[in-house]
Amino acid sequence: MQTSPNNPGHANSWYAATANDKRVRPELEGETEADVCVIGAGFTGISAALELAENGFSVVVLEGERIGFGASGRNGGQIVNGYSRDLDVIARRYGQEKAVKLGEMSLEGGEIIRRRVATYGIRCDLVDGGFFAAFTDKQVKEMAHVKANWEKHGHTGLEMVSKSEVGRYVKTDRYVGGMIDRLGGHIHPLNLVLGEAAAAEGLGVRIFEKSRVTGLDMGASPVVKTARGRVKARYVLVCGNAYLGSMLPKITDRMMPVSSQVMATEPLDAKLIEDLLPANYCVEDANYVLDYYRRTADNRLLYGGGIGYGGHDPANLTGVIRPNMLKTFPQLKGARIDFAWSGNFALTLTRIPHIGRLSENVYFSHGDSGHGVTTTHLLGKILGEAVRGHAGRFDVWASLPALPFPGGRTFRVPLTVLGAWWYGLRDKLGV
Ligand SMILES: Cc1cc2nc3c(=O)[nH]c(=O)nc-3n(C[C@H](O)[C@H](O)[C@H](O)COP(=O)(O)OP(=O)(O)OC[C@H]3O[C@@H](n4cnc5c(N)ncnc54)[C@H](O)[C@@H]3O)c2cc1C
Repeated sequence: MQTSPNNPGHANSWYAATANDKRVRPELEGETEADVCVIGAGFTGISAALELAENGFSVVVLEGERIGFGASGRNGGQIVNGYSRDLDVIARRYGQEKAVKLGEMSLEGGEIIRRRVATYGIRCDLVDGGFFAAFTDKQVKEMAHVKANWEKHGHTGLEMVSKSEVGRYVKTDRYVGGMIDRLGGHIHPLNLVLGEAAAAEGLGVRIFEKSRVTGLDMGASPVVKTARGRVKARYVLVCGNAYLGSMLPKITDRMMPVSSQVMATEPLDAKLIEDLLPANYCVEDANYVLDYYRRTADNRLLYGGGIGYGGHDPANLTGVIRPNMLKTFPQLKGARIDFAWSGNFALTLTRIPHIGRLSENVYFSHGDSGHGVTTTHLLGKILGEAVRGHAGRFDVWASLPALPFPGGRTFRVPLTVLGAWWYGLRDKLGV
């Protein structure tokens, strides 16, 4: 990973370069105690810490690198409602009752973000509105199906977009239609998580950076260990997601790190970028390996795509995504690329987040499978609720099965690549 020259410890992203808060928090040294110890300062961990601090709990957060170092500080910044598996699939697999319960929560992640931005005055360039773009009539049909399904669960912000209306949202001739979500939107994700972390600190949460957890003693009084310190806590929340490594094989065997790449152009002429994305909605296409892009507050085009099973960074980051950007916007042939980076999210076999208990007082959540900006906010809050003694919603999620990847740790990557190749081929052929 190439690190940010003016924000060391972060990937060299446009986000790290434009972070509002570049303060470095101390490393944990010696022994301390708290009601709750959170492992990982991404959206999940910080969302849980904030929920708990708002309810009077003492919390220590241990982050191996920097706040927002992982996917939360590197993603496309798209507020996408719902989950990586649709609610009708959830109903078919796990029953209507569970689908209804998950449906009731499906807009809450976005609401939590907007509430916190307003309550704590977080400056993260929040803009409302998202556009799902379709390449084929089949994808349009699937979107109409999703719309009808979400509306059954109370989502009123969706509208189908015909081919002739696509230009209101994105100026390209690649798409045959799509769907807008007025309750979607976009943010500067690193500034969001930094703002939430600062809000949590304002309520007494202690955050330690460069404090990677190397050991966890479970039991009635769990102890969390780093190279130079220990935290004794009543509860531990494991929120390390794709960066957890092999520390807890019981849960990490049920997810796979997957990388995605993002780049940011130089600031573009204001008229040009307004012409490309007139409504300032974020866009994601409907392919299996999808492209996602949006405007930034300083008029860059931030374009993401690509996929690396196992979580490896490609050697040539722009080589993966720039050709796709030019297919969408040939007008940008001469635009300079100022930043390109890669990050890992955690994929589960079911594409449903994996939540549960490792012991009576050690809980975990990970595996948002690529759509995590909203879900992590929801699930972090739900982890906090469980610690507070309200485990109803936690138990709904924890009851969903988490399956190991076929092929185990050795063959899970090639087998998944094979599956993805098949779906990618279907997209290419438009079938
Ligand atoms: C390139 C990219 C683009 C994406 N775009 C979008 C998007 O536009 N919209 C969307 O909804 N989702 C998107 N996602 C997914 C989304 O970003 C993630 O689902 C979400 O940020 C995961 O948050 P998290 O807190 O669970 O994990 P992370 O943000 O990865 O945080 C985990 C943290 O735990 C720390 N950690 C791990 N192990 C330890 C340890 N042992 N000790 C201490 N600390 C530890 C890590 O350093 C890391 O900071 C994208 C993901 C990527 C990678």
